[in-house]
Amino acid sequence: MGRLKDKVAIITGGMGGIGLATAALFMNEGAKVVLVDSNKAAIEKSKAELQDKSLSFCHADVSKKEDTIKFLNHTLEAFGKIDIFFANAGIEGVSKSIEEYPELVFDQVIAVNLKGVWLGCQYIIPKMEQGGSVIITSSVAGLKGFPGLGAYVATKHAVVGIMKVAAAENASRKIRVNTIHPGPVDNEMMRRIETDMSPDSPTEVMKGFEAAVPLGRYATSKEVGEMTLFLASDESKYITGCTHLVDGGMLNV
Ligand code: NAD
Repeated sequence: MGRLKDKVAIITGGMGGIGLATAALFMNEGAKVVLVDSNKAAIEKSKAELQDKSLSFCHADVSKKEDTIKFLNHTLEAFGKIDIFFANAGIEGVSKSIEEYPELVFDQVIAVNLKGVWLGCQYIIPKMEQGGSVIITSSVAGLKGFPGLGAYVATKHAVVGIMKVAAAENASRKIRVNTIHPGPVDNEMMRRIETDMSPDSPTEVMKGFEAAVPLGRYATSKEVGEMTLFLASDESKYITGCTHLVDGGMLNV
């Protein structure tokens, strides 16, 4: 308890599996949290279910500059400052080879996963408190190529570049910037990917992914949140510009 006492955090993709699990961990450690998401219905549902003085919701699309400024101002009005920025919103696109990949979907994946993180770094970081922490959700697909996930892989590599530049540009303000790299996580995104890859036998796809993980299973959203909590807290105050795997050994073991 108290690892994030008096800290204010923004979490984008806040209605998703990782966003919600991380919010619960942050609040349990004393943080005030703004959950940002483009899914209005999910926000309305959570607003009704999760009433807490330490929690605020903002409907915004991270790929739009005006929406980024909206959640920046929303946070400053609700809680007065920003210490932690978890740039976590993301979409998976479709599972198709580069040759067959639809241009429209490519543009959508770039807009959310890449431009969304860029705009967040451009508008949120300058308003953050000295000593703050930025955590960007990449993926194992940000460090390795996976066939059929070209647009997703491209964006998740690209945010590593943004992270390294933002870490360099903000070190003098003691603001740290890191990426996290989950393997498959047991939540809705993987259910969609499994079904997209094999509509008739998604559980076979899941078994295939599990076989590629030395620890033999998907991560839980909470386990990803626990890495994020460490990077958000002062326990990681000497760590910046780094990639952090949460993958059950998938890439290195
Ligand atoms: P999720 O689909 O449950 O959550 C993603 C959330 O982002 C959703 O609530 C969605 O509404 C929101 N979102 C989508 N587009 C948005 C936009 N333009 N603006 C604001 N919000 C938007 O999946 P998740 O696993 O919680 O995903 C969180 C992050 O983790 C993503 O960046 C994803 O790429 C990454 N990731 C997920 C996995 C996995 O297996 N689930 C693995 C590695 C990395």
